[in-house]
Amino acid sequence: MKLGVLGGGQLGRMLALAGYPLGLRFRFLDPAPESPVQELADLIVGRFDDLDVLERFPVGLEVITYEFENVPIEPARHLARQVPVFPPIAALEVSQDRLNEKQLFQSLGMATAPYAAVDTRDELSRAVDQVGLPAILKTRRLGYDGKGQFWLREPHDLERAWQALGGVPLLLEGVVRFERELSQIAVRGRDGSMVYYPLVENHHHEGILRVSYAPAPNTAESLTQEAQAFLHRLMEHLDYVGVLTVEFFQQDGRLLANEMAPRVHNSGHWTIEGARTSQFENHLRAVLGWPLGPAQAVGCSAMVNWIGHVPPPAKVLQIPSAHLHLYGKTARPGRKLGHVTLWGEEETALRQALEQLRPLLAEG
Ligand code: AMP
Repeated sequence: MKLGVLGGGQLGRMLALAGYPLGLRFRFLDPAPESPVQELADLIVGRFDDLDVLERFPVGLEVITYEFENVPIEPARHLARQVPVFPPIAALEVSQDRLNEKQLFQSLGMATAPYAAVDTRDELSRAVDQVGLPAILKTRRLGYDGKGQFWLREPHDLERAWQALGGVPLLLEGVVRFERELSQIAVRGRDGSMVYYPLVENHHHEGILRVSYAPAPNTAESLTQEAQAFLHRLMEHLDYVGVLTVEFFQQDGRLLANEMAPRVHNSGHWTIEGARTSQFENHLRAVLGWPLGPAQAVGCSAMVNWIGHVPPPAKVLQIPSAHLHLYGKTARPGRKLGHVTLWGEEETALRQALEQLRPLLAEG
């Protein structure tokens, strides 16, 4: 049985690695020849809107999924006329526009940061009056890992922000003084069944995820309930199939939704060793219409991203509970090259493992 995946990055690579034990085969489509999937699966190198590619790609595939949310909509629709595409394209469309995303969250009863749409220089001034400072000006589309964002701290930052980003549809967002950042990963099958991973605590630096702790320590049951109830409503609303991730800010013990990703997520990599079923396997089970696996955490995990550099594997693996994942990418500053998951039966053991990792982090 062969699945098609749009995008051939590390998420695609980990999907394939989870699929092989299930007897699955994969065909990827990515414009870059040196994609992390190149050495382990059939890779068509081409543009997503190339008609010739769109003829060849779906032949013989059972189902098509995607591993990044900026897949162009029209080609995805074209493919969906031939082979089922999951998660549904409606979810892809919402996630590609920060304004639609926030409006949908609010319509489903979930709080967000204060925001205002900005298309002109005048609207930027009005948005600042409405939202206040500090605020972040973001492009509505095609932003990831903090790209396409400009922080406004004082009134004279407006002009520079407009110079940097003006000309495309924008969104001004009030800065949330959050206690911490959390994410909720959930899965919905083709029969409507759902499973939820525990809330994960995420630490970002310069807009890029660095460390995730799972389950998120010191989490009130009410927070877990709030997150799960929201993902339930969101997945029902979208008639969703697959893994869905929502990133939240925790403020005054409540959740504010920041954004959603209709795909497996960096904050779920710990599930490979730290949960009863990994997010990658559950995503495959979901899009194939197979039963979902249990999503409970086993013990405590911490996932640390290798960004721009990777320490020698033999050093990392001196930590007894460490599991190393390298993506086969060439090192470049700011690039996610791999991750390590550390594990402990309980938090004290995990903290000890993290202490052992600390000197290796400093080397970068
Ligand atoms: P995003 O691309 O929206 O996920 O933003 C990347 C990171 O920037 C987030 O994970 C936060 O750490 C930070 N950030 C984004 N929006 C806000 C906000 N409204 N208030 C405070 N921090 C934010």
